[in-house]
Amino acid sequence: MSDFTVSEAMAWIKASAAVLDREAAHLSDLDAAIGDGDHGANMKRGFLAVEKKLDGTAPADLGALFKTVGMTLLSTVGGASGPLYGGFFLEIGKRGAGQSAWDAATLAEMLKAGLGDIVKRGKAELGDKTMVDALTPATEAMTGDLAAATAAAAKAARAAATATAPLLARKGRASYLGERSIGHEDPGANSLALLLETLADTCKG
Ligand code: ADP
Ligand code: MG
Repeated sequence: MSDFTVSEAMAWIKASAAVLDREAAHLSDLDAAIGDGDHGANMKRGFLAVEKKLDGTAPADLGALFKTVGMTLLSTVGGASGPLYGGFFLEIGKRGAGQSAWDAATLAEMLKAGLGDIVKRGKAELGDKTMVDALTPATEAMTGDLAAATAAAAKAARAAATATAPLLARKGRASYLGERSIGHEDPGANSLALLLETLADTCKG
């Protein structure tokens, strides 16, 4: 597969809704350990709403598609992750206005721009035990063609999500636990890894 188009983007989002539906209980279990136990339900609700919104539509371009994803997540997810994931996709939608195909380097730039919005809104730094810990190394790992770049991103995100376990949470609900947040993986880093694994799966051709 050479370029990332509306058809790959639609496939990614649809597959993500299925993956988050399947993994909701696991994500909520992770959140129960260091938060309020709703992360899986939040993500599942948001992506099923996105899937429903996009179902039967033909977005004009990648910008329009990701704008719809962002706006739907903003209005359905709630919690800390709703505005963060919503803002992530909205930023990508804004940058992608009028564009119908991205090569691997452009997709990497888009994900980095989305990460920029997450950092702007949430002010998390690397090592604060959030989704930023998974997304940062993932975007940096994206070299080669679309299949290689997305596979590298997924692998980096998964490794980084696992590596959040020994960290002390410094942002969000988990930070209220202080030292007791140590020893548990961050739920948002895990949902991010799931999204990028699904992206890689979609792009492997
Ligand atoms: P809530 O914490 O409001 O219940 P969720 O459970 O849906 O929301 O999401 C929690 C996840 O959000 C965390 O695991 C973390 O990855 C992410 N998160 C929380 N605060 C921030 C922040 N300031 N910056 C980046 N990510 C954050
Ligand atoms: Mg929660």
